[in-house]
Amino acid sequence: MKKLVMGNFKMNGDFAMIDTYGDTLLQLQDEKGPWTHDLILFPPTPYLNELQIILWETDIAIGAQDCSPHGGQGALTGEVSASFIKDMGCTHVLVGHSERRHKIHESNETVIEKLKRVAEEGLTPVLCIGETKEEYEQQLTLDRLHEQLKDLPDVEMVIAYEPVWAIGTGLTASTDLIAERLSQIKAMLKEGTPVLYGGSVTPDNAAEILALSEVDGVLVGGASLKAEQIDKIARS
Ligand code: PEP
Repeated sequence: MKKLVMGNFKMNGDFAMIDTYGDTLLQLQDEKGPWTHDLILFPPTPYLNELQIILWETDIAIGAQDCSPHGGQGALTGEVSASFIKDMGCTHVLVGHSERRHKIHESNETVIEKLKRVAEEGLTPVLCIGETKEEYEQQLTLDRLHEQLKDLPDVEMVIAYEPVWAIGTGLTASTDLIAERLSQIKAMLKEGTPVLYGGSVTPDNAAEILALSEVDGVLVGGASLKAEQIDKIARS
């Protein structure tokens, strides 16, 4: 069954890397045929257009890693609105990634405003949620998830469950834990909302995670930086 495979480059790359990456995916598509799963890539904002142009004739979609909580146009120096992102041909926007929540102190209220701006433009928000290591150890995971999922606007979205302790650490959650959490999260959401798992997904563990019936896809950080690796994950 086709699932979603999303690649978040975070603050990595340059024009040379993006060009090589796009060309490698084109070559892999020629050699191996279409991907098993739907692939959506999130390069840094300055490179959205470059990757979009290279992959124009593939089924790969391009998304942005963030957007402004403000809509329209006007005097907001430096902000990148959801409408700019739509104008660049993107289809998805990551919202509330844990690195933004924790390192940039993005509040739940800001996250909710961003969800609204993305949906208003007809783009799909990918809302990232997840508990910290301390919350996990103190068995506060469900409280944290409830808090991050409360007061959500009634818009179509994808949820990415990413335990903070599993992001970039190599500590992938066990398949039992992923299945249990995703069921609990689905019970908190409108029926049919896709829920992804993210946290140290690699070509080695992607197949068993994607095989779980509770999992609608994966959000991949570090392993998405190599075209060969995201290609393998999208063929798992
Ligand atoms: C992420 O950045 O969303 C992520 C899951 O990172 P990694 O795959 O590197 O853990």
